[in-house]
Amino acid sequence: MAQAGFGKFSDISGQDAITAHLRNALSTGTLSHAYLISGEDVSDTMEIANALASVLVCEDRQEGYEPCGKCTGCVQAAAGDHPDIRVLVPQKTTSTGVDDIRALTADLQLVPYRASFRIFIIPDAEKLTPQAQNAVLKTLEEPPEYAVLLLLCRNTTGFLPTLLSRCVCLQLKPVPDEEIGKKIAAAAGAMPAYPELLYACAAGSCGKALRLITEEDFDGYAGAALELLMGLKEKDAGEIVRFCQDTAENGRAELFLFIMHAFIRDLLVQKAAGSGTNLILTGNIQYISKTAGELSFAVLGRMEKTAVTAQRRLMQKGSPQLILEAALLTLREEMNGEIYDRQ
Ligand SMILES: [Zn+2]
Repeated sequence: MAQAGFGKFSDISGQDAITAHLRNALSTGTLSHAYLISGEDVSDTMEIANALASVLVCEDRQEGYEPCGKCTGCVQAAAGDHPDIRVLVPQKTTSTGVDDIRALTADLQLVPYRASFRIFIIPDAEKLTPQAQNAVLKTLEEPPEYAVLLLLCRNTTGFLPTLLSRCVCLQLKPVPDEEIGKKIAAAAGAMPAYPELLYACAAGSCGKALRLITEEDFDGYAGAALELLMGLKEKDAGEIVRFCQDTAENGRAELFLFIMHAFIRDLLVQKAAGSGTNLILTGNIQYISKTAGELSFAVLGRMEKTAVTAQRRLMQKGSPQLILEAALLTLREEMNGEIYDRQ
């Protein structure tokens, strides 16, 4: 889970409308008691929450809307232990219940320790049960003057209309690939090895792209996954099983299936267009072009279906290793022409 920490609006990429809105609210003293911030990845919504929380506890605010980064308030925010910034950690991982919100509401009655505000961050707010949402709503009917509630979520579809109407809803925009590339280059010191694949995987989330590159060795893993896929026809079953086991044990099944799907998608696009353009695996055009020429549309269609089925089974919490093995062994047979359309 993304942690609370220090943040600055000027460090946030691609969300100009949201940062302008919040800066203006801070400068004019028109901050709302509740914001519902939605975005693809919690790291991005948390980045906005951190910037807002940091400036609210800063003791030497710059230009009215940026934290100084040096005062005790900022230092405590950066360490994640400012007494006036609270992050809700629910008792259960699957849902956030009414008891969690009652504990938060009780905490909310305490006046600020150091700052002029108390900031309550609720990550994964889509997990709030309807009863919990009603409890939040109750709090928002008469909030203490110093209280600021930041609800973070992926999308707003599961919320009660009454709760939505009490919050200022801020929806993050997908960050353009070019912006993500710049951020990666600045953070990692180099451009990603598979830029288009990374951008497709990050789906406009700067935070997810950064995490994949700096924490999850995306380049190294994508290289190994593509090496396996491009050599799949010749791989023996033992090698495939070992790869699947490693991938599953390292929690990369979802990432692998994404890469596998992109690989098949590129073969299909190349087969249809034959132009080498609009591909995700831009560094592997030669292989994609040759292989697309060897496989029929019927085979590619079945391979695509195999990928979709595997992704669906994974979402339904099937065994990652077994799902990957079944998908890869099926693909290998398809690519070797050993399965025939029986329909
Ligand atoms: Zn400060």
